[in-house]
Amino acid sequence: MKNIIFIAPPAAGKGTQSALLEDTYGYNHISTGDLLRNAINNGSEIGNQVKDIMEKGELVSDSIITSLLKEAFNNIKGNFILDGYPRNINQANTLDNIFNELNINDVIVIYLNLNEADACNRALGRIVCKNCGLSYNKYIELLKPLNEGVCDKCHGELIQRTDDNEISFKNRFQTYLNETNPLLEYYKQKDMLKIVEANTSSDEIFEEIKQILTGERSNG
Ligand code: AMP
Repeated sequence: MKNIIFIAPPAAGKGTQSALLEDTYGYNHISTGDLLRNAINNGSEIGNQVKDIMEKGELVSDSIITSLLKEAFNNIKGNFILDGYPRNINQANTLDNIFNELNINDVIVIYLNLNEADACNRALGRIVCKNCGLSYNKYIELLKPLNEGVCDKCHGELIQRTDDNEISFKNRFQTYLNETNPLLEYYKQKDMLKIVEANTSSDEIFEEIKQILTGERSNG
């Protein structure tokens, strides 16, 4: 199986697709957002440094996030999904170096394309498991949990992320456009980019991703 980097605007479904891929193919799911939220919940020094920045919807420093990423790579074996890294060109260069050091070359980049209005609606309805991080949506029938407020998978409590409010979302989307969107050209040049339209159901998006992984869909 190919390793996957997801690039997407906030709330486009990276986490949901990563969870489906993890369950179906046994991928290691590395979410830099989850690593940071764990650091905050554990009350660690890094957590204290990043809390306000995350709530405002800005990017935390490259050095903090890269050290968390390297630690995560040390703890996994097998194929991985990167959900939330890289978020800018500097991080993409760092990632190239990490891949060189670890001799990783079978990587594709999947871009989930979603417009701002749809992404905003998803963010405002999103609820996530406090325990395992799985995402649900209060307003999308297929993404509602079976029992209100409870995770289907681990029975953890479902909560709204503190950055899933309108002001934070706007900042995150703007940060995405300024910093992350240029990565599409970066990976297109390297012939690694696959584009998936994300304004459909998570099942349809997942089907398309599976076709990319199995080679049934070979175009960008
Ligand atoms: P996410 O869970 O991917 O939506 O990330 C939530 C927040 O974590 C982002 O808005 C950033 O503040 C921070 N974050 C996650 N990944 C990165 C990264 N690669 N670089 C900088 N900040 C990040």
